[in-house]
Amino acid sequence: ALLITNKCINCDMCDPECPNQAIYMGNKVYEIDPHKCTECVGHYDQPTCVSVCPIDCIKPDPNHRENLDTLAEKYLRLTGQL
Ligand code: SF4
Ligand code: SF4
Repeated sequence: ALLITNKCINCDMCDPECPNQAIYMGNKVYEIDPHKCTECVGHYDQPTCVSVCPIDCIKPDPNHRENLDTLAEKYLRLTGQL
């Protein structure tokens, strides 16, 4: 999963673009639900939130490092295919 750092300026660009509805407004800045973020595996070639973020504040979540197989499995689970 990816992580939004506290540099986020709450521009609201990423939230509507997430194919998994994993992004939500947290206490101070936007946050990503690691259980819903597939790093866009199953939807896009690249994480679309990273593509649209104007200040590059979305990074890999060190507490939720997942390989391609795990992310693909998460995608299948989230879409009811598993
Ligand atoms: Fe959503 Fe993709 Fe960003 Fe994860 S990487 S939060 S799935 S847009
Ligand atoms: Fe924050 Fe970047 Fe999302 Fe804008 S696009 S709300 S700066 S994480």
